Amino acid sequence: MLLNKYTVILFVSWLLIVPTSLTYMLLTHDSQVIEWPYLLLFAVFGVLTLVYPIKINGKSLNLVSWVTIPAFLIYGLLFELLLMQISILGTAFFKKEQSETADRFFLNSLLFFVLSILSAQAFYFVSGEIGSVDFWPIVLSVAVYQLVHRGLYIVVKIAYTYFKKGKLNEFTKDVLLENALVICIIPFALTIYFLIKIIGIGAFVLLGIPFFFMISIHRLYNNTERINHDLQLAVDIGQGLSNHLNEEKVINQFVEKVAKMFNAEFTYLFDHHDGWLELIRSYEHGAFMDIQMNQLSVGEGIAGMVLKDNRPAIFAKRKDWITSSSDYAPDEMQSVITIPISRNQEIVGVLFIASIKRDAFNEYQLKILDILCSYFTVSIEKVRNIEETVRKSERCGLTKLYNYAYLKERLDFEGMRTQQGNLHELAVVILDIDHFKKVNDSYGHQSGNDILSELAILLENHVPKNGIVGRYGGEEFIYVLPDMRKKEANRFAENLREVIASHRFQIASNLNDSAKSIEVNITVSIGVAALPNDTDDVKNLVRYADRALYLGAKRAGRNRVAVYGKS
Ligand code: GH3
Ligand code: MG
Ligand code: MG
Repeated sequence: MLLNKYTVILFVSWLLIVPTSLTYMLLTHDSQVIEWPYLLLFAVFGVLTLVYPIKINGKSLNLVSWVTIPAFLIYGLLFELLLMQISILGTAFFKKEQSETADRFFLNSLLFFVLSILSAQAFYFVSGEIGSVDFWPIVLSVAVYQLVHRGLYIVVKIAYTYFKKGKLNEFTKDVLLENALVICIIPFALTIYFLIKIIGIGAFVLLGIPFFFMISIHRLYNNTERINHDLQLAVDIGQGLSNHLNEEKVINQFVEKVAKMFNAEFTYLFDHHDGWLELIRSYEHGAFMDIQMNQLSVGEGIAGMVLKDNRPAIFAKRKDWITSSSDYAPDEMQSVITIPISRNQEIVGVLFIASIKRDAFNEYQLKILDILCSYFTVSIEKVRNIEETVRKSERCGLTKLYNYAYLKERLDFEGMRTQQGNLHELAVVILDIDHFKKVNDSYGHQSGNDILSELAILLENHVPKNGIVGRYGGEEFIYVLPDMRKKEANRFAENLREVIASHRFQIASNLNDSAKSIEVNITVSIGVAALPNDTDDVKNLVRYADRALYLGAKRAGRNRVAVYGKS
């Protein structure tokens, strides 16, 4: 952790105030001697209260005064100060999820030290007496003590948030409830105090057991609430995913939502390809990142391990996984939760989530992730099916090129753009294979099909920028070329004709028993027409190109390009 100015100031103030004053007080106080065994016993309850707090909406309530008030009332300020410090230290040591432990420790230690001293002064001011059993006077002075303590705490907290975040915290119902509960602790603390006065330290057993029992019940209830809340969230996210019609969007939203739901600073999605994993999405600190990572093979890195065992993994802290990690592991990464994503008993990917906090993930979250991943795979499958259906309806089955219906739609669209002035030119290039019947007759219909497929690939490889190519019918193909001038289209067609004429098509001759493949040459005749040179109406465009093809190219001997309007 980098030491910033704030941490240094905090540390120096703490050093000057807390240890110095405590040492001074310990050396000079002459009344009672501190009874360390009792202090430690009190501290055990103090630490327990702070480490297992009651939580409201994820925020912990500090109820330690049920221990510190009786301690103050019996043994005085110094004992209470020591108790508070030991409790805070113990908590910093045992509480695992804290991310900024050092800062927090110094701040809490300093704050509660000063608050205790000021509250004690208020207590003395209203004539509160240590060890008194006069009921009403002690009730009054403890109430004053706690009110001052709380009041100052709230003021400091508001000032602190203002200083750190530049804005005031909203005064929510939670804050009200939190403070009400802390005030309600007064009767409880007084009961302990009076009971200690009568039966000694056994009072902690009598009241401490039900106290922690109630806290446990509350925590259990809280967990159930959290699980229900997370389940609802998972369902909402899942339904959101299934609304998208685009694979990219489904993947991005899944990663984003999961990161948010799990408060994860790092989320990675791997795609499983037959024994190795490819990183397809990286999301760090709320943004998609472009991270170059080598492919992970089975068993390599945490994700590879999860793939190998087909079992999820949870790690509480960096130390637990760093040895099995692959090369990429940002420094602040601590907790990790990783799960295989399966579809029909097959692993299709791995989801890796990590937090900068320790112990950030829970077993139950695996079930939630499982639900999310199911929604994810179903949504992806649905999107792929839709995309496939659209693709099929636009493409010809044999050549995989655009079909006539799609071409017509595109032509109309591009024609409209030209008419509106968004395009300057629109050229079409139509080609028809020469003497294709003969090819079929010589080598069989299947071989004819093979040639059509191979030609389609060739045509696809020569599509100019912004253009498309499709199968217009039988062995006729068409290029739609937005923003291409007629002259340029002519050059393009001439080049294409030469490319096709010099290409050797591989076919397996079906009419011949030998399985050997043979090479065949074909030629094409081509017609060219363009908007707005030849016509203003896109409907005429194909007709004119066709006319050029038949009258200009075929009739003139085939294997040539003819441009409409020139004869
Ligand atoms: P030309 O164009 O040079 O005048 O002669 P051609 O033999 O190519 O004549 P035409 O274009 O009129 O005939 C097209 C032939 O292409 C008819 C048909 O046998 C063949 N054909 C059309 N579609 C397919 C197809 O999908 N597969 C196969 N194998 N042949 C097809
Ligand atoms: Mg034809
Ligand atoms: Mg033909």
